[in-house]
Amino acid sequence: MSAATEVTNGQQDPKSRQEEEVGKKGRHSTVGHKSLLQSDALFQYILETSVYPREPAPLQELREMTANHPWNLMTTSADEGQFLMLLVKLINAKNTLELGVYTGYSLLSTALALPEDGKIIAMDIHRQNYELGVPFMKKAGVHHKIDFREGQGLTLLEELMQDEKNLGFFDFAFVDADKDNYLNYHERIIKLVKVGGLIGYDNTLWNGSVATPDDTPYPKYVKFYKPFVLELNKALAIDPRIEISMVPVGDGITLCRRIQ
Ligand code: SAM
Ligand code: CA
Repeated sequence: MSAATEVTNGQQDPKSRQEEEVGKKGRHSTVGHKSLLQSDALFQYILETSVYPREPAPLQELREMTANHPWNLMTTSADEGQFLMLLVKLINAKNTLELGVYTGYSLLSTALALPEDGKIIAMDIHRQNYELGVPFMKKAGVHHKIDFREGQGLTLLEELMQDEKNLGFFDFAFVDADKDNYLNYHERIIKLVKVGGLIGYDNTLWNGSVATPDDTPYPKYVKFYKPFVLELNKALAIDPRIEISMVPVGDGITLCRRIQ
């Protein structure tokens, strides 16, 4: 079990034989992200069976570079990247938004899935981590699809909304930034995405903490953001402007289809 999974479950499962057989090399725990699945072995099975064999080379290289970055806990997991790629293609997205880029695993996944003339407006408060990912975007031949904007998410969304052409314009938005602002982001992004368009709010199961008692021993940042994630989940569940599905991929992604 990785430390992250121990924290996720609130208790340590006995190591299964299958897990021991997996060995150390290539284990997702080295990447630093978390899984809500019942065992590391099951997650490893998904990665090795259907994700890694299909992962485009630039994405794999970006993932490996990011694994050595001190904040690698923030990266999107490879199975979720694959899910995003499929989603973007399924809805024929052409114009998308991303809030929370880090080194760009979800961004590159989206960019690869968009058509040649597709565009992503990618926003983050820090440019420097995105810059680490740029060589991989260039190598993948998708850098021209990315319009990176550095700044506070709320400010950048407000700027977008000032141009009427942007209202109801975007096919897809992936939100993966500061969790205490998700509801503020929602009020703006719902106006930027078209009716019939899709928004994905990431980390809505928040390490599994949304369904555990408040005194469960999670890291400080998990405890801090938990009330905001709970509030978001409640609000999305009753929001008449959207249809939703909470998908337990990665750390949980709530998909919202705008209907009003
Ligand atoms: N989607 C990314 C990936 O696939 O690697 C991971 C994003 S990471 C979980 C969260 C990002 O949100 C960080 O890069 C951080 O700089 C950014 N962020 C945090 N607060 C922000 C804010 N107020 N406005 C914009 N970006 C913010
Ligand atoms: Ca995330």
